[in-house]
Amino acid sequence: MRIHHLNCGSLRKIPPLGEEPTPDAVNRELAAVCHCLLIETDSDGLVLVDTGLGTADLQDPDRSLGTDWVAYAQPVLDLEESALRQVVRLGYAPQDVRHIVLTHLHRDHTGGLPDFPHARVHVHPDEYRAVTDPEAPHHRHSLDRFMPAHRAHNPLLTPALVEERTEWFGFPGVARPQGLACDLLLVPLPGHSAGHAGVAVRDGDGRWLLHAGDAYMYHGELEHTPPLSHPILEPVQQGAQTDVAARAVARDRLRGLRRDHADEVTVFSAHDPWELARLVVPTG
Ligand SMILES: [Zn+2]
Repeated sequence: MRIHHLNCGSLRKIPPLGEEPTPDAVNRELAAVCHCLLIETDSDGLVLVDTGLGTADLQDPDRSLGTDWVAYAQPVLDLEESALRQVVRLGYAPQDVRHIVLTHLHRDHTGGLPDFPHARVHVHPDEYRAVTDPEAPHHRHSLDRFMPAHRAHNPLLTPALVEERTEWFGFPGVARPQGLACDLLLVPLPGHSAGHAGVAVRDGDGRWLLHAGDAYMYHGELEHTPPLSHPILEPVQQGAQTDVAARAVARDRLRGLRRDHADEVTVFSAHDPWELARLVVPTG
């Protein structure tokens, strides 16, 4: 099994906080990213975790993503950053992506769905219910953020199955995507969206990666005491979140996970470019 860390959509530049700028990526201004994983599995073909911005978003962003979002997020609009183009550059066909696992159904995570219309799309059952059941909590809020351009092709949205007895490092309510044999779980991290979940995947060496989605947006929220949020990213969080208290609980659990299990689990979030820079293996 091989895991690639991909940036599927550069957004506006953001400065690091609290430290003097340095010339390397560790501490200088960088474009916010849409951090996705492309997993080459033995059992399930290619599995894409989150999809960033898709080719249609990059060609007609105002129509596909909405003018207000585009004005704030300032996407760079480089087609080569789409998951589709990156999959092809790695020597695969788009059809080789058989499964997509999403942390949640916000536009900067779902943009690539139309580029892989044949893939099964797995989400936590709470997120599935929020967009499919008019009686579900936050239904309107959730559907408003799941862009019509990203679901017009009727993606094969599939709720993962909650395993009541399964905990993951003490996190309850873990769900397993249907029909996936590899070691991959949806770990509830609610609060940012109704059924927001991290995606935990175990690599060939037995170590876990946890893609925490938008449960937090800046590494200072996990690494600094007290938690340090970013003034450019925090308004996005405030505007989207469905449950402030639940989000704080999820963040504190992640702080504990990082503190107690750093040798077994690497945690990262969707948009923090410094976290991506630590994880990307330079090529060429
Ligand atoms: Zn989001």
